[in-house]
Amino acid sequence: MQDAVDRRIDGSRDELVTLTQALVRIPTINPPGDAYTPCAQLIGDRLKRFGFDVDYVRAHDTPGDSDRYPRTNVIARFEGKRPGKTIHFNSHIDVVEVGSGWTFDPFGGEACDGKIYGRGTCDMKGGLAASIIAAECYIAERPDFSGAIEISGTVDEESGGFGGVAHLASKGLFSKPRVDHVIIPEPLNKDRICLGHRGVWWAQIETFGVQAHGSMPFLGDCAIRHMGAVLNAFEADLYPQLAAKRTNMPVVPEGAKQSTLNINSIHGGENEPGSSGKPDDYDGLPSPNVPDSCSMIIDRRFLIEEDLATVKREVTGILDALKADREQFDYTIKDIMEVLPTMTERDAPVVKAVRDGIRDVLGQEPDYVISPGTYDQKHIARIGHLHDCIAYGPGILDLAHMADEYVGIDDMIQSAKVMARAIERLLHPAATC
Ligand SMILES: [Zn+2]
Repeated sequence: MQDAVDRRIDGSRDELVTLTQALVRIPTINPPGDAYTPCAQLIGDRLKRFGFDVDYVRAHDTPGDSDRYPRTNVIARFEGKRPGKTIHFNSHIDVVEVGSGWTFDPFGGEACDGKIYGRGTCDMKGGLAASIIAAECYIAERPDFSGAIEISGTVDEESGGFGGVAHLASKGLFSKPRVDHVIIPEPLNKDRICLGHRGVWWAQIETFGVQAHGSMPFLGDCAIRHMGAVLNAFEADLYPQLAAKRTNMPVVPEGAKQSTLNINSIHGGENEPGSSGKPDDYDGLPSPNVPDSCSMIIDRRFLIEEDLATVKREVTGILDALKADREQFDYTIKDIMEVLPTMTERDAPVVKAVRDGIRDVLGQEPDYVISPGTYDQKHIARIGHLHDCIAYGPGILDLAHMADEYVGIDDMIQSAKVMARAIERLLHPAATC
């Protein structure tokens, strides 16, 4: 019976290409969150024509929402013949800025040598299109399934997902009894199952000083030099500690199997002339001042073996030691974002269903991986309390956010077949046991 679904997916190749192109041609760049409504409508109109019930949910008052840039999500549901479990395919519709270095039109959706090029092809409109084709072909061939199939197109994943999956999850749309299993078709490669992600702690550290004339710095106290002491202590004490912490999580790439810390930004004193990049930026000479403040944003990624309180103490311990030892040193630290690591069990139903699909379609065992960065699974786990969730989709992870991003058409076809098998396994369990 899967043969019939496979044949239908093969026969939908042109439609899959056309759908991916149509999605890519809507420039849903985030920030600011452009063109979300027409993109959500394209998905909703198509699924409504097929017979799905379609709802649009605008996330009012979430970051970035305005009448000019409404945070419009679409969620579609197709009921089976009998009550049963629900499988949900969730894709984000936002894409990151274009950047430079393109040889293809970023919003042209050009098909060339078996690939479709454009911003968002890989991350992740190709995965979204594959899940739509998989669901439609499955429903057409196996209309007697139990339960329900849902497909959503959600916003703002690239900026934290607060107006997208987090908002929907807070309304119960990613919780039992409405939803049981979730597949997020992020570009993790067609033969890999992504079980979850590392944790995140972003914080802003500020050091203080006393302003004075730059020709007499001894009359003031330089906040940037205090921040330099923080950096030195990080180099001497923190980085070696982090490098020694290795995880048993199957994180890819290899370098992310340890705890990491990035310094996202650092700033002290006046703005450098011309630093804003705006045409009307002040480009005269700076004035001589000893800076009284210096601020730094840190991005700490942590492992499932670590707990957030210890992660924070490692940093505050260094700052407190400086406060005790270094004259006039004082600091504040403010949390900006916290995301706990999440990892779905390998024997969870959705993992086994996709594993079997990969075995059938690709003739190989899947690789199980953990993403170095987070994605919307965090909200489904934390707000929806739903832990039968993975990322699985076509597209090569390394191409995400790059110039000349593309998705392979064969990869989309194969992953659509894997998704259709996962639906069969989860909604027709008796047939495959
Ligand atoms: Zn993505």
